[in-house]
Amino acid sequence: MSHVFPRHCHTQPPIAVGGEGVFLIDSEGKRYLDGSGGAAVSCLGHGDKEVTEAIKAQLDRLAFAHTGFLTSEPAEALADLLIEHAPGDLDRVYFVSGGSEATEAAIKLARQYWVEKGQPQRSRLIARRQSYHGNTIGALSAGGNEWRRQQFGPLLLDVSHIAPCYEYRERGEDETAEEYGLRAANALRDEIERLGPDTVMAFMAEPVVGATSGAVPPAPGYFRRIRQICDEYGILLILDEVMCGMGRTGTLFACEQDGIAPDILCIAKGLGAGYQPIGAMLCSKEIYDAIAQGSGFFQHGHTYIGHPVATAAGLAVVRAILDRDLLVQVQRKGRALQSALESRFGQHPHVGDIRGRGLFRGIELVADRASKAPFDPSLRIAARLKKAAFVRGLICYPMSGTIDGKHGDHVLLAPPFIISDAEMGMLVDRLADAVEEVLGHGG
Ligand code: PMP
Repeated sequence: MSHVFPRHCHTQPPIAVGGEGVFLIDSEGKRYLDGSGGAAVSCLGHGDKEVTEAIKAQLDRLAFAHTGFLTSEPAEALADLLIEHAPGDLDRVYFVSGGSEATEAAIKLARQYWVEKGQPQRSRLIARRQSYHGNTIGALSAGGNEWRRQQFGPLLLDVSHIAPCYEYRERGEDETAEEYGLRAANALRDEIERLGPDTVMAFMAEPVVGATSGAVPPAPGYFRRIRQICDEYGILLILDEVMCGMGRTGTLFACEQDGIAPDILCIAKGLGAGYQPIGAMLCSKEIYDAIAQGSGFFQHGHTYIGHPVATAAGLAVVRAILDRDLLVQVQRKGRALQSALESRFGQHPHVGDIRGRGLFRGIELVADRASKAPFDPSLRIAARLKKAAFVRGLICYPMSGTIDGKHGDHVLLAPPFIISDAEMGMLVDRLADAVEEVLGHGG
């Protein structure tokens, strides 16, 4: 009997013993095509020698130094590299160990900024429904996923949630995409007015929504209007690129494609590419200066922030993304994946939408295409699809979307950037077989 506390108490997952490129290998020798990079983590695939060598070299030099006393060479070099490529006036990097720690730190930094600026009445955070920002209490409060929140309600912070930007479901028939984007963004203005503008500290959103909705990109102009509203009211914009950042959408940061920069940016997953647990929060010079010229101390911290081995891994990963020209490859392969999915599922009566950016793609499943009605949750479509794919040696990330009875189940795909055309074909074939088993031919 295993003593590991598993994700699901009544299942014993296979034991992973190896990884090669886009494949994971279990103790029985079965190979799984990692079509979602775990949860959009393994952007370089498995067994990348350059990254593992960089980690070993750092371990030989220095495994750990507490940032209460010392910084380290890889942390300094990685911060420089990220800031060199970061949008806007992002100027400082705060390293943590994962995505939830990054968003949690962002919420606290936003609050402290306003305290330092002499506006302590600003304590309200606005976020969006159908979003995920992590599982710690602050991050969970910011997220709008009811299924994850429901047991913890009494413990959560009072965060306001506005509607997501979700063209497939929310755009009116007589609206253009741009008009819809503007309308969706204006929900932020209305909520700020409702709460009282000088009580609001920040707005938090994922540029391309991942785990709760399946790679939903924003409507054109949405984030430009969001940025404008934040500026008009002097409210901080926090972008959570934990899943969609680090090249996943074809640019190093997803928000580059929306032509805006946030005040605080959260990254994780692809930053360590699974080789080490690492996340980061980047903040603007204005925010950093407010702390530096105020109390001089960000009232936060964890034992493992700026870990030398984790930052050495992150440095090797970001260099690989940039030096191997992977962003261009993500753009090309992303277009190829979208058209392969469209030609395979475009006419399927239970596929309502195929969407995404770069190698971050989602398929939304519906009971009825015309009405967009979701499947009854009791059918457990997402769970069955995950199993059917896994049996066929495909790891993908299906999620039940029916928490609010409104949006459908979906499948998220986020394969390693190094995936070959043949492997991409294999991914789509295996997914099609799994969809056929669960939903039928559709013909
Ligand atoms: N934000 C987003 C957008 C995420 O997708 C996730 C993880 N799925 C998190 C935050 C939390 O990251 P972690 O699981 O590393 O704590």
